[in-house]
Amino acid sequence: MTIITHLINGEMRPANGRVTDVFNPATGEVIRQVELASKTTVEDAIAAAKAALPAWRNLPPARRAQILFRFKTLLEEHESQIVALISEEHGKTPEDAAGELRRGIENVEYATAAPELLKGEFSRNAGPHIDSWSDFHAVGVVAGITPFNFPAMVPLWMYPLAIACGNTFVLKPSERDPSSTLLIASLLQQAGLPAGVLNVVNGDKEAVDTLLESPDVKAISFVGSTPVAEYIYGEGTRRGKRVQALGGAKNHAVIMPDAELDNAVSALMGAAYGSCGERCMAISVAVCVGDQVAEALINKLIPKIEALKVGAGNQKGLDMGPLVTRAHLNKVTDYIHGGVAAGATLIVDGRRLAVAGYESGFFMGGCLFDQVTPEMRIYQEEIFGPVLCIVRVNSLEEAITLINDHEYGNGTCIFTRDGESARLFCNEIEVGMVGVNVPLPVPVAFHSFGGWKRSLFGDLHAYGPDGVRFYTRRKTITQRWPARISHEAAQFAFPSGQ
Ligand code: NAD
Repeated sequence: MTIITHLINGEMRPANGRVTDVFNPATGEVIRQVELASKTTVEDAIAAAKAALPAWRNLPPARRAQILFRFKTLLEEHESQIVALISEEHGKTPEDAAGELRRGIENVEYATAAPELLKGEFSRNAGPHIDSWSDFHAVGVVAGITPFNFPAMVPLWMYPLAIACGNTFVLKPSERDPSSTLLIASLLQQAGLPAGVLNVVNGDKEAVDTLLESPDVKAISFVGSTPVAEYIYGEGTRRGKRVQALGGAKNHAVIMPDAELDNAVSALMGAAYGSCGERCMAISVAVCVGDQVAEALINKLIPKIEALKVGAGNQKGLDMGPLVTRAHLNKVTDYIHGGVAAGATLIVDGRRLAVAGYESGFFMGGCLFDQVTPEMRIYQEEIFGPVLCIVRVNSLEEAITLINDHEYGNGTCIFTRDGESARLFCNEIEVGMVGVNVPLPVPVAFHSFGGWKRSLFGDLHAYGPDGVRFYTRRKTITQRWPARISHEAAQFAFPSGQ
């Protein structure tokens, strides 16, 4: 059986350590194994990144960008191979995998603007004969730790921009679906990246803890669940690192009485059940303003949920594939049992879905709960499965209070035809990414991605302008020429430029 290893200093390491199984979630079979890097292996990757740093950060940004241009072309040329690997190991449909790759490529496109992004700021005559400028320097060796649900896109949020800014990088992807991530990294080598600038170590907590403990790792970008995000933020910042740690979510969609209901239903179907709900921006709560809206919405949703086409990830034209692992299927199933026990009404029950020919796959159909209330676990916690909960409220203000009281604040949206309601919602809502008639308001690559509250630990969001800030350190230089315009006496008052 193939054992996936690590890309260190431009070469694949031979396997010689602990391994874990990688499944095809549609068949339930083990298709590969992945080695879990030891402390020594991760230290080798950090050392390779450190050794590559001086030459890389001094390379003109335009030269770094040229490599990224070639990388983008290679990604597009290898789309079908990458998509097939994502679908095989994650389970998402090929169309969904292609969408994730496309959004990842947009981040590469943004990073090719490095010469423009790193130009800095200049003030002529900041004082008498004095010019001042700020420029942006690489932070050093940066680590990225990424989740299973976007094995192509989320790493591409991080390292293209980080290396464009002159940093070198150690990526620790999810051990559950590592193949597409590794293929993409090897394409960057092929594009001409010098050895050691990007290293990929597969692994678990041992690898992550080695990155956290290393004084040579100066910054960490993390995306994953909230408990791990909080751990990484705490341990990383305690050791003086710069950390941005993006966590979990519970995203609400508010449906106003004036919403264009058919469009809202279509939007909700894709946002709640696309990728089997395994998205940090998935809509998992529909907040209906008024019972009439709730009844109408439910009546339109039921037949659509029952008609969802669920099957193996390698087939086209499906709505949903399987969940990622059996353990995750069991976890989502337990939430549904819990919701029923807590008194919510399970209107559509997707448990025990059988897909012909794939009886051992980790499949679940779409589920819909009504009469969900805020004290229930299915409302409070991130289920990360194809489960939509209906919560009924009486007003927009009540909906806003409900959402603001939730511990997560990643994404949200409102369906309405009323500009005043939309504007109030956008102003008052305590959530980082907001959609108005847009169910998955994932910011484009030239904005930045991040939630509020316990959906993000740190100050700067991922990619886009915040990404440039995160991956650079500012240096401000104040310079006077000519150096001797007159013989000045020493000044003991604070220099004011007057
Ligand atoms: P996860 O937290 O289990 O794993 C994320 C990464 O952390 C993986 O690389 C994993 O190996 C590592 N890890 C896991 N447990 C660890 C531990 N105890 N100590 C150190 N490292 C550990 O997340 P997941 O299940 O892979 O992904 C799903 C989660 O990611 C969901 O909560 C989802 O909302 C979140 N997510 C968030 C965003 C966002 O932008 N906010 C985007 C995608 C996914």
